[in-house]
Parts: sequence; C-alpha cells; structure tokens
Amino acid sequence: MSTQKFSTNALHAGHDVTKNGGTRAVPLYQSTAYVFDNADHAANLFNLSQPGYIYTRLNNPTNDVLEQRLAALEGGIASVVTASGTAAISTALLVLLKVGDHIVASNSLYGGTYNLLSVTLPRLGITTTFVDPSDPSNFEKAVQENTRAFFIESLGNPKLDVLDIKAISNEAKAFKVPLIVDNTVATPALLNPIEHGANIIIHSLTKYINGNGTALGGAIIDAGTFDWSNGKFPEFTEPSAGYHGLVYHDALGPAAFIAKVRIEGLRDHGAALSPFNAFQIIQGLETLEVRVKKHSENALALAEWLQEQDEVAWVNYPGLKTSAYNDLANQYLPKGQSGIVTFGVKGGFESAKTVADETKVFSLLANIGDTKSLIIHPASTTHQQLDEAAQESTGVTKDLIRLSVGLEDISDLKADLKEAFAQIDKKVLT
Ligand SMILES: *Cc1c(COP(=O)(O)O)cnc(C)c1O
Repeated sequence: MSTQKFSTNALHAGHDVTKNGGTRAVPLYQSTAYVFDNADHAANLFNLSQPGYIYTRLNNPTNDVLEQRLAALEGGIASVVTASGTAAISTALLVLLKVGDHIVASNSLYGGTYNLLSVTLPRLGITTTFVDPSDPSNFEKAVQENTRAFFIESLGNPKLDVLDIKAISNEAKAFKVPLIVDNTVATPALLNPIEHGANIIIHSLTKYINGNGTALGGAIIDAGTFDWSNGKFPEFTEPSAGYHGLVYHDALGPAAFIAKVRIEGLRDHGAALSPFNAFQIIQGLETLEVRVKKHSENALALAEWLQEQDEVAWVNYPGLKTSAYNDLANQYLPKGQSGIVTFGVKGGFESAKTVADETKVFSLLANIGDTKSLIIHPASTTHQQLDEAAQESTGVTKDLIRLSVGLEDISDLKADLKEAFAQIDKKVLT
C-alpha cells in the first residue's frame, strides 16, 4: 500500500504513466469490451485464473484507476465503483445479505438510504432496526440473532450528527458483524473511518469527490479487516453455485467481500459506473483536499454569521462551539467539518420556503458537494415522503434550510442570504 500522503495519492495513486502511453492525465477508455489474445486467454480470464479486462460492467482501465485511488485515500485494500452512491449501497447490501437477515442502522440516514432500508429491502425479507446513534449502546440493544451488518453515516445528511465511530465499531466487533460507514459528507480528506474500526466504506462520488456537479457515481471500499469465516456468513465459506464452486474466503482471503462485490454484485445487479463518469470524477478527486478545506472554512464562517441574524432561529454546524456534536467533531473531524450547514428560519415552513425561493447565488436544487452554493428546504422536497416521526428522527424540521456552501466569496454568500431574509413576511418575525 502507498506510503505517500493524501494529496499525493489523490493525484497519482493507481495511474502508471508507463502503461498508458505516457499520458499524464488518466486516459478515458470508452470501450465496452476487450480483445482476448486467444481462446485460452479468454478462458483464463473467465475462470479468474488470470487477471485482465473482460467487459466494462465488470472492470475497465479508467474505473480501475479510480478504484485504486479511492482505496488508497480511504486506507482500504480495494474498491469497486458503481453507477451512483445509491447503487453502491444497494449492491453492497445485496452482496452481503439475504432473506431473513437484519441490519441495525442509524436513524439519521440520507433520505434515499432510509427508504431503501425501511421500505424496499423488507420486500426482500431484509429488515432494519433504526436506532438513535448518539448513544452507541443502542446498537447493542437492537442486535438480533440474525443481525448481519451495522450501517451508519460518519456525518449524517442533513442532521449533521457526528458519530462515535470507534465506539460503534466496538459494538459491531462484539457481535461479529461488519460496520458499514457512508462517508460521503465527511469525505476521505477529512475523515478515514477505517482508522476507527469501520469495515466497509460507501461513497456517493456524485458529491464532494466529483465536486463539479457533472457526474453521478458511487464506491464501495473494503478495509479487508473483517473475518468472513466467523460462522455468520456461509456464502463466503461454502462453494458458490454462482461461480463454479468458488469458496470466496479460501480463494481470496481478506479481499473476499470486495471480490464478491465485483464478480457477483456487478455481474448480477449491473450497476457499473460509466467510464466517462469515472474520467470526470478523477478530475474532481485530484483537487478534493483543497476544495473541502475551503468548503469547510466557508461553511464555518457562514454558520457563525447566521447565528447573529435576527431571522434565524437556530444554526447547526458541527464546527460551532454551540453544536451538540462539537466534541465529536474535534475528535473525528479536526481538519474541518465539510460544507453542509443547516438552520431554522423564524416563522417555520413558509418562511423557510421563502428563503429557498429568494436566494440567487445559492441555487435551489437537490444536491450537495458542488463547487457552487446550493440551498434546499427538505421538508417540502427531499424528505417530503417521510412521515412526521421519520422527519423528526432524520433531523428534518419544517423550518430547516440546508445549505451546501460552495467556493464563492463569503461576502457574496452573506449578501445573498441577507436579501432573501428581507423577503420574509415581517409579521412572522415578531
Ligand atoms: C447523495 C447521497 C447518497 C446517494 O448518492 P447518489 O450518488 O445520489 O445515488 C448516499 N449517501 C449520502 C450521505 C448522500 O449524500
């Protein structure tokens, strides 16, 4: 594994210029399939006795560089990239779990993930108990005999709760189940959950890692630290009918899970990343560290300014001294707390909608992590489908505005919000 530092790996890991015609940039291999040397070579690739490219749903040289780079940046042994962050989550869970299995998950997950776990996976017989993650012992209390995974977000979207990953990973270890951490909002530039005991990392590459709002993508990164032969995962220790009797744990050791993600997950579920998107995401990834540093600085400055505004009822940003998560942020996110800020507008639902309507530099849309500043009112949009109890547990109140603070000049961002605040019906503020 590379011993070089983060910013060096972000620029170089996985790309051997001598193997790619001397191209300094990572080339885009926009090809569906790869010519075999001869029929024996083809047979060897198909029975996995020789590594190589077969078909872009399974692997691709451009995707390969992105996979190696992400594994290096998260401190994992390997990774698989997918069509979106959502595809990363569903592929990882469908490779790992089967009918009758159970997940213990944080109750402050991204809305799409919450829906997958609470509505869609139960149709396949995979159930989830959601717990308040601020007390790690809640995971232990929710464990059942059929529990096969813990699922959390390192920095919840949009609640911005910082989780005690170390404590939760100790609970997972005690019950011999893998801890899966969605690290999208924190990014590997600010936090490496593997260092705190996480076994599998998920990313939506769509957000900060691409950063320019031009391509969807996802990734599953394997720490290579989980013992799949502990008795709870027979699919890893018994011959796989889907792969001519391959016993994943025996054949692949610590890489058993990530290999299964590729050769069963991508093969059977098909959520492969387009190489064109991989190419774009690599351009973004190269500057991740400097961007996220600036996103974090702008977000903290804006959060502090918002606290002083008459129209604002409350502000939530883990970097604020007033945040309930400030101690955990100092422990887990000392380099910065990323670019998402939430706040409540006095006057509730209608006032919050007005602010979302009236900003001009902040674009009203459903995304985060773009270089451009973004705004949304979750109660009327992303979290509209959730009932009141679920809105509450995911931290979405009616007055909540979510900002994804971009890289613009901070004075322009403040002026934009100030003008939007001026449009709120003054009656509701008194
Ligand atoms: C956006 C997001 C996802 C889903 O990613 P897509 O690329 O949009 O499918 C998952 N988790 C978190 C925390 C996200 O912010």
